[in-house]
Amino acid sequence: MQIQQILFTQGFGTRRVCAGLVEQGHVTVEGLPCDDPGAGFEPVGLHFTVQGRAWEYHEKAYLLLHKPAGYECSARPSTWPSVYTLLPAPLRQRPQRQAMDGVQAVGRLDQDTTGALLLSDDGAFIHRMSSPRRHVPKVYEVEARHDVTPAMVERLLAGVVLEDDPVPVRAAACEATGGTGLRLTLTEGKYHQVKRMVAAVGNRVERLHRSRIGGLDLGGLAPGQWRWLAPDDLALLQ
Ligand code: URA
Repeated sequence: MQIQQILFTQGFGTRRVCAGLVEQGHVTVEGLPCDDPGAGFEPVGLHFTVQGRAWEYHEKAYLLLHKPAGYECSARPSTWPSVYTLLPAPLRQRPQRQAMDGVQAVGRLDQDTTGALLLSDDGAFIHRMSSPRRHVPKVYEVEARHDVTPAMVERLLAGVVLEDDPVPVRAAACEATGGTGLRLTLTEGKYHQVKRMVAAVGNRVERLHRSRIGGLDLGGLAPGQWRWLAPDDLALLQ
């Protein structure tokens, strides 16, 4: 693939901008300067720099972000900054692939929720991961307002009815983690589900953190940091 096309697919600008970046000497490929926009390379695993920014070619983007509090999972946020502002420009500007308009979050976390958020520009992946039939377990750490009682845990496991839905929803797993702490595993993703379930048992969520999606946790990712997901990571989401 031509280097100008590689840059374009990776979000470094329009085709014309990408050709210009190469011609003007702003690009190195595997450590060597490259000023011919038409120079061809095998893209998979290719390392290059653009204006000093190191990058590795990824045909599709699969990302894990440690969402901090105070960000909305929307490209057009109403009040708080968008989570997409936490990604570097090339990831925000990746061109449309199939019907996908660049990198998008897989589901949403509330503005004040922290933790693991997947993002991708692979529409089939997003669809698979968001499908209610898929039941990928997600683990939430709750800091509640009041102490968590054994009765609350039992009710969350047995199923609670939320105000707009007669079908009870239940936690796939639930344990008190001491005092006001609660760990909940959900296999669905209804609107404000954790907050509404905790409210339904007479408590209130003060802080909410998603620590795990399937077999994938945040590892050492600090709030606001993101990383590429490798095939091994993706296997943990099956
Ligand atoms: N449940 C909630 O109530 N909020 C979230 O952000 C995620 C799950």
